[in-house]
Amino acid sequence: MKCPKCPGTDLEAVGLPFRDRSIPGPDETAGTLEVDLCASCGGVWFDKNELDRYLDSAAKPLPPMAKAVDRAQDAKAGLCPRCNLPLAKKPLPSNPLLSADCCAKCGGLWLDAGELERAAGKDLPFAERLKAAFSGV
Ligand SMILES: [Zn+2]
Ligand SMILES: [Zn+2]
Repeated sequence: MKCPKCPGTDLEAVGLPFRDRSIPGPDETAGTLEVDLCASCGGVWFDKNELDRYLDSAAKPLPPMAKAVDRAQDAKAGLCPRCNLPLAKKPLPSNPLLSADCCAKCGGLWLDAGELERAAGKDLPFAERLKAAFSGV
């Protein structure tokens, strides 16, 4: 799949660790969610319901000042990497200050760099885990 915002750049599959409540066991049971990351712009693609599943498992309250979102990157129009259709800006239910680029056809959505951290909240260990997950890319 190609990055919606970087023409010609391939997305790379990355496994994000998260607490998976669908796996019986103690709270910290780890699951891995496969998402597609752009190493160039730092944006992440979630297929339908993946972001909800992720936030549902790992969500914490939002930080007052998380890593800034690049507004210019956010404002760029993108095409769905699966359907090749224009993505529509929609506020995220978990943080209406953020707009994700959503595909009306497949239900996938794109978060620009910095948006996932803000969507997921201020759990620093979580942010560190994210960085660790992305640092090998
Ligand atoms: Zn990109
Ligand atoms: Zn699509």
